[in-house]
Amino acid sequence: MQFDRDYAMLIDGRIEAGEPSLEVINPATEAVIATVPDCSREQLDAAVAAARAAFPAWRALPIAERKAFVVRIGALITEHASALARLLTAEQGKPVADAEGEIAAAAYWCQGIATYDLPVHVNEETEERRSVTHYVPLGVVGGIVPWNFPILLAIFKIAPALLAGNTMVIKPSPFTPLSLLKLGELLADELPAGVLNIVAGGDAVGPWMTEHPGIDKISFTGSTQTGRRVMASAAANLKRLTLELGGNDAAIVLPDVDVDAVAQTLFWAAFGNNGQVCIAAKRMYVHADVYDAVRDALVAYAATVKVGDGAEQGTQVGPIQNRPQFERVKALIADARASGLVFAAGGEVPEGKGFFIPLSIVDNPPEDSRVVQEEAFGPVLPLIRFDDIDDVIRRANASDYGLAGSVWTNDLDRAAAIAAQLDTGTVWVNEVQYLTPFQPFGGHKQSGLGTENGLDGILEYTSPRTIVVKQKP
Ligand code: NAD
Repeated sequence: MQFDRDYAMLIDGRIEAGEPSLEVINPATEAVIATVPDCSREQLDAAVAAARAAFPAWRALPIAERKAFVVRIGALITEHASALARLLTAEQGKPVADAEGEIAAAAYWCQGIATYDLPVHVNEETEERRSVTHYVPLGVVGGIVPWNFPILLAIFKIAPALLAGNTMVIKPSPFTPLSLLKLGELLADELPAGVLNIVAGGDAVGPWMTEHPGIDKISFTGSTQTGRRVMASAAANLKRLTLELGGNDAAIVLPDVDVDAVAQTLFWAAFGNNGQVCIAAKRMYVHADVYDAVRDALVAYAATVKVGDGAEQGTQVGPIQNRPQFERVKALIADARASGLVFAAGGEVPEGKGFFIPLSIVDNPPEDSRVVQEEAFGPVLPLIRFDDIDDVIRRANASDYGLAGSVWTNDLDRAAAIAAQLDTGTVWVNEVQYLTPFQPFGGHKQSGLGTENGLDGILEYTSPRTIVVKQKP
């Protein structure tokens, strides 16, 4: 499949090119694979105006009809799954099987979210008075998504926003715009004009969206640093906000684990998608009784994992998605080496084409080292020895992040007791990254604001409107 053609935006139901064009790079080869428009201010204004114009009719549709559109989006994704997955691999770098998994999940999310109805709460029903709360859409939602799961994280926003009766303008990351723009092309004739607008562009477009007076809510997924800017900018017209931000998830491995049985699962908890997952296990605390065995099993398994171009058969881990992130991860490794930390695996970044970092495991770094304290967002895992469970819970919680965490043990009561003490939005036991359309997901502390998925996630795209009727005037 060739990608050497221009991609266009979806504005007011029209496929629209823009000038000048931005280049999209395949991170495995560093070759330019496509050009995309750089949305102008006028084009963004047109997209917002189209969304606003489409809002009254869209919100007035019976929810069953909006659900049918959301189901149709999922069906189209499934119909074009193979082409979308190959495009995703080319722009994002992830292995084809992972890209297929992301596309399948996006389709599944549409079906799952479409099973929800908006609740109606009767607060009071007496002879004298009836008080009822409905959940009404907000208006125009601006969606901003990152480059690690470009399609799935966009669908996390599109499906509930449209279901709840909002219209939308959504922007992919400039590093990975192709698959979402392709989806826009597929949807152009399916949705009423203006209901969903997809714009692409460089660094200016996100801030234009967050300050735009015609946008009522921003649903943002990205780094905590950018999240702070989004929040400040959104203050101008008091936009509603959902912020899904960074994390530094702790995995706590207790002494009773069967090391051989869990080693591979632990490995992928940290290194899936090349560590570029907000909810990757980013700090692995392993009890002293099993520390050496877990480290050795992870190192041995890492040696068997094929890192390479995601388009090549057999590749299990692709490159880092973009050069700035590649440089950040390299700097973190260089800092660890300069601090005298020991790498049990990896730790040497070879020269060559493509943003490749070897799978790296740091052997028991101090708690205050950068590699423990910072979100690597790459294949660099600090493995930290612990003896005392209360102390490790304290260390797990001693972070500005609070996205998720995990506990690994056969003692499920003990796991539940530890889980209840972790200050995070999700805690998994003996697995990580299990998300569904039906399960609320969001960060505590500086990992975010608000929720995606589940009914809580859908209600983020609504405001309650309570109507109180005094029955006997
Ligand atoms: P990023 O914050 O650099 O960019 C995210 C998006 O914001 C991009 O589309 C970008 O163009 C846009 N943007 C940049 N500056 C902006 C501004 N000032 N105003 C508005 N928009 C702006 O993040 P990234 O590097 O693309 O993604 C990696 C980060 O995302 C990691 O920290 C990761 O943990 C986080 N993440 C969080 C979740 C979650 O659900 N909590 C999921 C995936 C990724």
